[in-house]
Amino acid sequence: MMEDLQSIISQSIDNKPMIIAGPCSAETEEQVINTAMNLANNGIKYFRAGIWKPRTKPGGFEGIGIEGLNWLKRVKEETGMYTCTEVATKAHVEAALNANIDILWIGARTSANPFAMQEIADALVGHEDKTILVKNPVNPDIELWIGALQRIYNAGIRKLGAIHRGFSAYGKHLYRNMPQWHIPIELHRRIPNLPIFCDPSHIGGLRELIAPISQQAIDMGFEGLIIESHCDPDNAWSDKSQQVTPDVLNYIINTLVVRATSQSTENLNLLRQQIDELDNDLIEILSKRMRVCREIGQYKKEHHMQVVQTRRYDDILKSRIKLAEEMEMSGDFMKTVLQAIHEESVRQQIEIINGRKI
Ligand code: PEP
Ligand code: MN
Repeated sequence: MMEDLQSIISQSIDNKPMIIAGPCSAETEEQVINTAMNLANNGIKYFRAGIWKPRTKPGGFEGIGIEGLNWLKRVKEETGMYTCTEVATKAHVEAALNANIDILWIGARTSANPFAMQEIADALVGHEDKTILVKNPVNPDIELWIGALQRIYNAGIRKLGAIHRGFSAYGKHLYRNMPQWHIPIELHRRIPNLPIFCDPSHIGGLRELIAPISQQAIDMGFEGLIIESHCDPDNAWSDKSQQVTPDVLNYIINTLVVRATSQSTENLNLLRQQIDELDNDLIEILSKRMRVCREIGQYKKEHHMQVVQTRRYDDILKSRIKLAEEMEMSGDFMKTVLQAIHEESVRQQIEIINGRKI
């Protein structure tokens, strides 16, 4: 039986993240077995291959279908690797469960669709031993991502993880899918125990970007990577420009630097505590400043003065920007901060003048 994902991940934490690798699509039995053998020889333990492929337009290679599940069974028997594939419908889930696939992942187009997610969740009821990974939806909507995870959780699945594969954007960009790292970071903040994988192949869309994106994910503390690897990437039937051979993958993995030791994590936590405290101080000081502003508002009201005194505001801007620059901050940054503070002060003074008590 599959070990608990969380415990596999904690085992791998001492040095390397958990790696899932394999071709974008299962194409032929030979391609699947050849790729799997090479990956297994390089120490990879989790093999991925898409059997059903969601393609943007009709006419592309839409996956080999159910026949490919037999090839994944062979991979498991001959290499001992765990197998992983994408499911998008009830029929996919049932076929993958029958074929004893270890990890099922839900793709970005599917996780954006609550009906499809519910159908998959319902098909998983009674299969609590399975590990399910949910990719982020194509659009940058964290609630939709969390909702998709919740549907699977509510079906009784506890071996649950998320995959960050970037978000679609209109037009041409460096990345095929924009990483928008703050979204998986927010997911981690909202569900701290949920393991998060990064998919640098679909974020970057280019082989050359796999290493830097993987490094960035590791630096941010992601628990694993899912990387597309093909025995002959240039002739792959889907996503050829973002796949690497098992040997290149091995090189990439070996050059990744896992920086976080427990000592440095502790130091980082201490620094973060300092930031929390300083932020509290900042908010307290701002609130004191607003209190004084409201008193000034009261004074202006009693003396029938205007709320905004332009000369005074200009003087404040100049002197504070100068001070900020002397203290190694950019003048533009300080200007933005002061403008925001001024806006809130004016808003509060207007409330006073319109009759609210201080
Ligand atoms: C895939 O992993 O091959 C895939 C189709 O990914 P995504 O759902 O992220 O586009
Ligand atoms: Mn792909």
